[in-house]
Amino acid sequence: MNTDPIVWKRNIPVRYTADVAVLGGGMAGVSAACAAARAGAKVILIEKFAVTGGNATAGGVAAFCGETAGQGQIFDQIIADLGAFQAVAPYIAYPQSDHRLFDHEILAVVLQELLLRHHVKLLLHTQFIDVAVSDDGRITECIVCGKSGPEALRAKQFIDCTGEAQVAHMAGFSTVKGRQHDQMQLPMSLMFFVRHVQEEARVNQVPGGWFKAIRDKEDMPMTTKWPNGPGSNAMKLKIPGFDSTDTEAATAAEIQARRRMMEVLDYYQRVEQRPWLLDHCSPQIGIREGRRIVGDYTLSVEDLRVGRRFDDAIARGVYYLDAHKPDDDKRTYVLNNKELKVPPYHIPFRSLMVKDARNLLAAGRCLSADQLALSSSRVMTTCSMMGQAAGIAAAASVQKQCDPRDLDSLDIRKMVEKRGANLEI
Ligand SMILES: Cc1cc2nc3c(=O)[nH]c(=O)nc-3n(C[C@H](O)[C@H](O)[C@H](O)COP(=O)(O)OP(=O)(O)OC[C@H]3O[C@@H](n4cnc5c(N)ncnc54)[C@H](O)[C@@H]3O)c2cc1C
Repeated sequence: MNTDPIVWKRNIPVRYTADVAVLGGGMAGVSAACAAARAGAKVILIEKFAVTGGNATAGGVAAFCGETAGQGQIFDQIIADLGAFQAVAPYIAYPQSDHRLFDHEILAVVLQELLLRHHVKLLLHTQFIDVAVSDDGRITECIVCGKSGPEALRAKQFIDCTGEAQVAHMAGFSTVKGRQHDQMQLPMSLMFFVRHVQEEARVNQVPGGWFKAIRDKEDMPMTTKWPNGPGSNAMKLKIPGFDSTDTEAATAAEIQARRRMMEVLDYYQRVEQRPWLLDHCSPQIGIREGRRIVGDYTLSVEDLRVGRRFDDAIARGVYYLDAHKPDDDKRTYVLNNKELKVPPYHIPFRSLMVKDARNLLAAGRCLSADQLALSSSRVMTTCSMMGQAAGIAAAASVQKQCDPRDLDSLDIRKMVEKRGANLEI
């Protein structure tokens, strides 16, 4: 069959206009959208799933790692709202505690209500698919596709919070992925949940012959389990070796993850005789790393190791280097235990600025960083902090009618700190 490229042309309506368009509604995107709206901008948020929260909700990752105080007003509000639903663990400062559990189903409600309170125009089931860029590197419209089909979204400033730098990539700006020598990304992990039943209700759910039978603990893939409220466990299952930015590889990862989940469930039910039944599995595999932008500055692991300060700091990271080995499914890490700890470090505004772009910032796990720096800065607390800063900067650019790069970065830093972000290191 002839597979030469085709030209695809279609007239589509400019259905949406905004000051600031945020693409991707994970922790970074929600924080960016709310922060820009709080600064007076007209904001639209595009999310491909039925809920916002990204990895934190659709990915089933239900623990904020790192420091949960001083991350900024938006994150503080998220914690306060979770607290109102009794859906977040009490505060313990980092590093006395390195994570804070929350209920990810409640988080989905909290984030949606937060966006609506900030008058953010929210489009769910809507995928960013393409972008129109002028010759001088300015994005004019994004093409999004929801239930109504492809439509254009025109905005003055854009923030790429897709986690995969999809906007930067589609616009033709440089992006990178994975570790430097072979592009292998930090592994994905599937989150699934089991509920505990009475001994008499215990069953082996997995029929023989469907999946590989694991009968020895040694043969188990890395599976981390922790309590998920009373009578339930959250389980995290490592699935390495797939490229999250490739359609077929991402599909293969999802298929393998569900098969492995059944193998692991079978092991716990038959070998360890646990009275656990599969409750649910998150609808999407958790993605630690996709593409990252190439920014005006690339945060490096050396910056983290020395706790580098930047004048244009807009976020602070504290979490250790959580670099799971990308090429096996055991509990293995790229670094040894002694090399994991880093002092508090700054993330500069330049790491959110897409190189050569005029009106595009990025925030969250697609910031400009090397893989090891990402392994720390990708935690949700830090993603929210970056998101808030990007939202503040995008709104300031709209107000001042300039590009984010032309803003006074010290002003942005001051605004970010005024909005509750602790940048002290
Ligand atoms: C298995 C696993 C365990 C982790 N454990 C922890 C932990 O315990 N604590 C912690 O703090 N962090 C943890 N992390 C890291 C953390 O969850 C993520 O790095 C963080 O949530 C990333 O936030 P984000 O907003 O940058 O990206 P994401 O959460 O990935 O959000 C991106 C959003 O963009 C949307 N999107 C993507 N493409 C498009 C498109 N084309 N159109 C429209 N929408 C789009 C996605 O649907 C998603 O909602 C873990 C990650 C994984 C994978």
